[in-house]
Amino acid sequence: MVDLQAVLDSIYKELTPRIGEGKVADYIPELAKIDPHQFGMAVVTVDGKIYRAGDAGVPFSIQSISKVFMLTLALGKVGEGLWKRVGREPSGSAFNSIVQLEHEHGIPRNPFINAGAIAVTDVVMAGHAPREAIGELLRFVRYLADDESVTIDEKVARSETQTGYRNFALANFMRAYKNIDHPVEHVLGVYFHQCALSMSCEQLAKAGLFLAARGSNPMTGHSVVSPKRARRINALMLTCGHYDGSGDFAYHVGLPGKSGVGGGIFAVAPGVASIAAWSPGLNKVGNSQLAAVALEMLAARTGWSVFGD
Ligand code: GLN
Repeated sequence: MVDLQAVLDSIYKELTPRIGEGKVADYIPELAKIDPHQFGMAVVTVDGKIYRAGDAGVPFSIQSISKVFMLTLALGKVGEGLWKRVGREPSGSAFNSIVQLEHEHGIPRNPFINAGAIAVTDVVMAGHAPREAIGELLRFVRYLADDESVTIDEKVARSETQTGYRNFALANFMRAYKNIDHPVEHVLGVYFHQCALSMSCEQLAKAGLFLAARGSNPMTGHSVVSPKRARRINALMLTCGHYDGSGDFAYHVGLPGKSGVGGGIFAVAPGVASIAAWSPGLNKVGNSQLAAVALEMLAARTGWSVFGD
């Protein structure tokens, strides 16, 4: 086994001169204020060891990484019936694209683009007031991370509510096709709050450890999903987790992963470890530039790519 702390230290040292690369998301005003000169990374192995580098303890807006947790909740509620509402194919389009929705009669391509995640949120809301659905997600993530200090950044949620025109368009479009059951403002209220979850790399890697460990969190003993479901969520992350950059991420990193416009990337080395990397500057498709480079270096130095070492 490689010395993981030495690997993380070397990645941090080599990337230090590049910290600040990329462009911070500015379509959500509150995210535009984030200092791009930050970089963190955390690895949690299935035997419960934690390795950190840089700003691994600094909370950031996890944004679309939350789609993995909401998907897990939705599958828990309705099982495979979820796939009547959303597809499982890579989109090849931007995260907030509306074009394919028209061709596919209001059924989004996958649960990780915005339209798909909004439909998934609508599923989780069944039988709940919006506030309860947000509470359910927050409790779930705290339980997964075994950390009650995980919070939602209300300022980010408010900022996105005020400027989320495209998401309103997506939700209204799907509602016209009857693929949204609840009032659009309610669904988006929940969606914006889930995106505003604030977590550090360390909390995120811990929360997602069940996906690396056949559905159970080996640190807490909590069984979260079946091994089959964990495998399937990983398959979706590999094929759809980085929007139009999913192929490139598979090519360079070779791990299931999910990005967010807050600059975080969560990734899974199945059977080995869960990983979170964060740096706010994004590339052209809206994925963290430096976090992706860091994960590529990690995969190369550990031989963790699912495609072979
Ligand atoms: N909250 C963001 C949005 O809906 C999430 C997008 C992302 O992280 N890619 O636009």
